[in-house]
Amino acid sequence: MSKDASAITTLYDRIVARNPGEPEFHQALHEVLETLTPVLARHPEYQRHNIIEHLCEPERQIIFRVPWQDDAGQIQINRGFRINFNSAIGPYKGGLRFHPAVTIGTMKFLAFEQTFKNALTGLPIGSGKGGADFDPKGKSDAEVMRFCQSFMTELYRHIGDSTDVPAGDIGVGTREIGYLFGQYKRITNRYESGVITGKSPGWGGTVIRKKATGYGVVYFAEAMLAMKETELCNKTCVVSGSGNVALYAIEKLHSIGARVIACSDSDGVIIDENGLDIKTLIQIKEQDRDRLTAYRDHHPHAEYIKNGNIWDIPCDVAFPCATQNELHEKDANKLIQQGCIAVCEGANMPCTPEAVAVFLDNQIAYGPGKAANAGGVASSALEMQHNATRHSGFEYSEERLYEIMNNIHRQCCQTAEEFGVPGNYVVGANIAGFRRVADAMLA
Ligand code: GLU
Repeated sequence: MSKDASAITTLYDRIVARNPGEPEFHQALHEVLETLTPVLARHPEYQRHNIIEHLCEPERQIIFRVPWQDDAGQIQINRGFRINFNSAIGPYKGGLRFHPAVTIGTMKFLAFEQTFKNALTGLPIGSGKGGADFDPKGKSDAEVMRFCQSFMTELYRHIGDSTDVPAGDIGVGTREIGYLFGQYKRITNRYESGVITGKSPGWGGTVIRKKATGYGVVYFAEAMLAMKETELCNKTCVVSGSGNVALYAIEKLHSIGARVIACSDSDGVIIDENGLDIKTLIQIKEQDRDRLTAYRDHHPHAEYIKNGNIWDIPCDVAFPCATQNELHEKDANKLIQQGCIAVCEGANMPCTPEAVAVFLDNQIAYGPGKAANAGGVASSALEMQHNATRHSGFEYSEERLYEIMNNIHRQCCQTAEEFGVPGNYVVGANIAGFRRVADAMLA
């Protein structure tokens, strides 16, 4: 083992020992650190200043109690988090996740990933993440509102348009952003629209934010396929999940002539060989807040597989857009055997390390989430600019998002090439993102 490789191993072991019982954070750390060995050889200044260890330690971690009253009048308690990971290139920026699997470890993994993702956008945003172990599933609208208000009653003192700017993530969409912003405004008596992003266009949000992550994932996949001299048009695609990212990836894929035949929720998989009807999906998920089984009420020819595995369905391009570690080694092998040529991540870390190794060994195009799903946070950064102008006419276009995604793709390719592994987007994204933050930290 080279001197630099053993320095990285020692460092990894030390950071893991300092953060026990946080497997997702360890996984994300490992994935990044193992690609940084060649960077140390070229940049001894990073090692001299211990920049990697510095960058792996969050600047601040906030944990708080969130009491709220359910519709039966009972007091419920959840745990809230906000991780301020890195502010070298801008205010902390990242979403809020409301999901029962939220722990300090998942928050740290997400905030760590956000560091590289946000740097890749080229925009002035540092990294953060937050959320709560609150399960919005089955909660009434009034319960969600009371929860959001209680959550913000603590969070408001930690955020600000130049300090830390939250947004949505799993379980937090436009409705929740509205409840959170309303409470912030009420407590502070200040209309600071730039304190949170993902707002509705009527009160400081931008038209494209809701669609930006999904659209961006498709632009990134298109750019990857172009490198292989092919395109998404006429390809059969499978998209896991049915949240914001999945829905707008499906919409964009259809609009450019791809055929998306399946998506999923935590109960099962819906398959429509004619191509999923996006209008129906949007109605079910956004208006009715219902489960995917309802799709068959509108399209009885579709097949619903309860507890099915979406990665069993043959496709040309796979888009994991649900959650972390949803695609395993056996799924990766199956996808490849069935002719899959590209995998592009809409979720954060949806493929396990073993699955990623299968994709890289087989040299199929694999776009890691921290590059491929950066469209959401990039459009959030533009929303912050828009809010700072106090100008309601300012609107940026889909072309701007397209440019940003292609720029991220280009950076990944050039960096992978520079480090002698052309086509390896993992190395490209990690090193390109790392260098931007590390140089700012050094400065
Ligand atoms: N939650 C999204 C992400 O994982 C967006 C964050 C944001 O807009 O701040 O990147």
